[in-house]
Order: sequence, then C-alpha cells, then structure tokens
Amino acid sequence: MIQGIGASSGIAIGKCFVLPNWEWDLPEQKIDVADLAREFERLYEGIRTSKVEIEQMKDELSEVVGPAERSIFDAHLAILDDPVFMNEIQGMIERQYKAAEVAVKEAIDHFVTMFDLLDDEYMKERALDIRDVGNRLLKHLLGAPEITLPSDTQPYILIAKELSPSQLAHLNPSNVLGITTFGGSMTSHSAIMARALGIPLVVAAEGKLEETVVTGDMLIMDGTTGEIVLSPSLEQIRAYTKLKQEQEEERNRLRGLAHVDPSTPDGKTLRLSANISSLKELELALSSGAHGVGLFRTEFLYMDRTRFPKEEEQFEVYRSVAEKLEGGSLVIRTLDIGGDKHLDYFELPEEENPFLGYRAIRISLDRKDLFRTQLRAILRASHYGNVKVMYPLISSVEEVREANRVLQEAMEELRQEGKPFNPSMETGVMIELPAAVMIAELLAREVDFFSIGTNDLVQFTLAVDRMNDKISHLYEPYHPAVLRMLRTTVEAARRQGITVGVCGEMAGDPAALPVWLGLNVDGLSMSSHSILQVKERLLRTGQEECRAVLEHIMASSTASEIKRHLREFRTEIDLRDEQEEQEEQARIASVSDSICN
Ligand code: PEP
Ligand code: MG
Repeated sequence: MIQGIGASSGIAIGKCFVLPNWEWDLPEQKIDVADLAREFERLYEGIRTSKVEIEQMKDELSEVVGPAERSIFDAHLAILDDPVFMNEIQGMIERQYKAAEVAVKEAIDHFVTMFDLLDDEYMKERALDIRDVGNRLLKHLLGAPEITLPSDTQPYILIAKELSPSQLAHLNPSNVLGITTFGGSMTSHSAIMARALGIPLVVAAEGKLEETVVTGDMLIMDGTTGEIVLSPSLEQIRAYTKLKQEQEEERNRLRGLAHVDPSTPDGKTLRLSANISSLKELELALSSGAHGVGLFRTEFLYMDRTRFPKEEEQFEVYRSVAEKLEGGSLVIRTLDIGGDKHLDYFELPEEENPFLGYRAIRISLDRKDLFRTQLRAILRASHYGNVKVMYPLISSVEEVREANRVLQEAMEELRQEGKPFNPSMETGVMIELPAAVMIAELLAREVDFFSIGTNDLVQFTLAVDRMNDKISHLYEPYHPAVLRMLRTTVEAARRQGITVGVCGEMAGDPAALPVWLGLNVDGLSMSSHSILQVKERLLRTGQEECRAVLEHIMASSTASEIKRHLREFRTEIDLRDEQEEQEEQARIASVSDSICN
C-alpha cells in the first residue's frame, strides 16, 4: 500500500496510464557561426520527419474519416512548406544565431498571436494549425516522445508527476477513472477542478510509486483516504469494489436531499451555492440543489483557448449561466490568473514568488483593456439574471475604487451604445489576504458583499505555500489565527450591514459547518460534490448550539484542540440522532402492536 493525500473523493479501480515526464527544455545559448549549416540541416530533417508522420496519420485515418478531416493534414503539410513561416524561422537562425528549436518556438508564438488578433474565424483556425504543426516540429527537434492518451474506449487511471489546471481542462472526464500525481496538494487548482469534475484524485504520492508504476499496471486508488494499491490481489479488488458500491449508495441517498430547504432545525437558512469554472459544471451544480453560483472562476474560460476570449464569447457564457440559474444568484469573479494558473498565450514574468506577484486584480488593473472587456461582458449578462461581480486578491481600498471606476466607465460605454445591463449590479470582494481582513471594515463601505477565500487566506495567514507538499502539514485551516481572521471579517461585514459568505475549500468541509453557523455567515459556496454532504449535516445541526461550540473553540489554543472539539460535537449529534431514531422506531412498533392487539 502506498500512502498519498486524498484530494478528491471516490475509488478508482483499473489499468493506469503513466504520463511521460518531459517539458520543452529550450537551449539558452546562441549557436556558433560555424554551426549554422548543421542547424539548418537539423531543421530540414525535423521538417522531413514531421511530413512523413503527418502523411502516415493521413493514410491511417483514410478509412475512418472523410475528406474534410483529411484536409486538415494537407493544411499542416502546407504550413511546413509555407515560405513566410519558414523565412521567419530561417531568418532567426541566420541573423540572430538562435538554435532551431528556439526559432521554431518564437515563430509559432509570433504567427499565432498575429492570426489571433484578426477578427476572422478562419484565420483563428489557422493559428491552431500553426501551433499544432509547430509543436510537432519542435518535438522532433528536441527528440521528445509523443504523448497519446489511451483511446476513448479504455477508461484509465492517469498517473502524472504534476498536472496543470489547463492540462486537466483538456481531459475527457468520462474517460478518466481517477488521477494520481506524485506531487501536488489538496488546494491546488488542479485538485479543485478534479473535485468539480468528480474525478477521484490522490496527490503527493511520490516515492515507491514513482519508481515502480508503468503504463498498463493494475491499480486501486482511494481519493478519500489517499491509499494506492499497486497490482492488487483479487481479495483487495473485491473489498474496494464493495466500498465503491457503498459510496455510490450513500451518494444516491444524499441526492434525495437536493430539493430540501437548507435550514437548521432551529430555523437558520444557509444558502449553499456552487463553485464552477465552466458552463458544463453547472449541470452538476443544479442537480446537487445549489442555490446559485457563489464563485464562477472565469480564468478557466481563458485557459481553454489560444487567445483572450472576446467580449461576445464571454457574454454568451455568462448569460447562459445566468439564465439557467433562473433568478438564482451568480457571482462572477474577474480574471484570477497568476500563481499556479497560466495562459499559454499570455506570458507572465518569471517571478521568485508568483503567488505574491503579478496576478489576479493586479493584472486586471494593469491591463485595463482586458479588464474592461470582461466587465462589459459581465454587465451585459446582468440584464439576463441575478449577476454580481467580484474582485479577487484585494489588498487595499484603492484597488476596489479603481476597479469600480473601470466598472463605471464600462457602464457608461454600454449606455451610449444602447446595450442593456443592470445599473445596480452588486459588487463584492474576496477576502483572502490578511490585509483585507485587517481593513474589512473599510472595504465593507465600498462594496455590497464579501466572500471569504479560505484557500488563499490560510496560505497567506500562515505563510504556507498551498502548492508545496513538503509543508502541507502546516497548511491548517483550523489554526486559531485563521479562525480569528474569519471572525474579524464576519463581524466587520455585520457592522457595515453587508452580506458575507465563504467560497474557499473550507466551505465544503462538513467538519467546518459549526464554525459557519456559529459565526452566522450568510452563505457557503463549494464544489458541487460537497453540497449534499454539507446540507445533510446542516439539517441536523442547531445554530444555537454552534454558537456555544464557537465560544469553546475560540478559547482553544491549538488547531488539534479545535478539531477535537468539532469531532466531539459531531459525535454528540450523531449519537443524539441515533437515539431519537431508535425511540421513533420503538414508538412506531408500540403503536402497531396496539393496533394489532
Ligand atoms: C480562495 O482563495 O479561497 C479561492 C476561493 O480562490 P482560488 O482557490 O481560486 O484562489
Ligand atoms: Mg484565491
């Protein structure tokens, strides 16, 4: 048995596919004048091999696809003969002494950016072709092996060193039984996405697994406990299959709660909303009984393409989500890239500390062109539903004012163009930095709502990188410092009369529910998969008793004491419910006895 960290629940049993670990490692130094001829020879050899490969693919597919699909390969072959593309590459080698792979990479980037800027769908398609064929050429120049994921007919467990959020976004979830990564952490964006897609995930499973696992090996992984069994025995397969069935039965039982009101026995209603990052995740959110979307992570809309999405494209997505929610609230968070989230087509600077660097609202306020486009799309969608806008990583009042100023400008433009929007659309900020907590009172005067982002708030309060598995034991949401941050924020919001919710991963942890009820927050937003589990606890937990529990844990000095109090409280509720259930059964039995006699 190998122990990793369970990051997305569910059991997967099946054969694995090990993703080869290679990256584009481009040479840094320039070539020597004497090596020019050799560099050209390498380039031409790479082109020849790429052409042979493309011809082969075309032949292999001739039986299965029609002429339209086959013509894509002709387009790729034509690019490799295109004089403009080739002149660009040759020029960089000849005049700037760049290595062939560097010249190819820069030529791809140059043409892709240029084509993308054109307002012409045909040319945008050509940009995709250039990237595709360019990467093939690059692969040959670098001697990198081809990565082909198994075909659609064979679901597999994916094993990878790391998996970026954009790589995950490109997987077909119905084909992936589970994912195990050697590195990674619970609160990375890849883990958040895996939970949203319902794919079991185990992270930080390095060591023995890394040395021994090969593609085709049989494997069991448990995304709750983090356990991995390599080459399991028949007995182990039976035991885990049974466990998997039990989990599915429990999920089915919880599904019955989707339309039950999310209220405590003493009458506190807590809005349970979903965190989504794409339109396709909305389906699951709605079937889980989500009240609305409390966090739309829009950056994934930007990741899934080769250029910044246009206003119209964004508007269509935001509007669809708003309409499908039928009046339910939709909180759209403006672009939050940087940190562990990158865009292939937007070069971020190399930074020593990317999580403290050029990211989120800092990029939006620096690139007002991008920001205004997004705000216009959000505003236009506000005409079709209960849309709100939220700014990420806010650290000062100035940032909020500047963001709101751009919002006002966008409104003015739309007014002049006669495009409808909701002029009183609510604005909010994420409270995810200690600075924001300390000035929560001041921030609350500028906006209509707060949403506490516990993922970053824990990271920054404790100075523990949320991506670093070496120190993941220090990443402690139940640290007394974090609980004080939460209380300060909620009290500030209350004093200023604005609403306050929570949208970090802690919101979806059923163990944290007494904290939220004790603090009296207005809503929780979480991965759709957690909604019903949290609701099930909510229906059985009184708010009044949670206030007492909160007093208790606020007086505790350590995270382990706090977690022990929460565990004891949970057991107390379970025992009480069990006893009530037994009493009810006994009562029914005695009534039916008396009827029969
Ligand atoms: C957070 O930081 O808690 C949050 C919800 O935002 P993200 O995880 O996208 O950084
Ligand atoms: Mg965050």
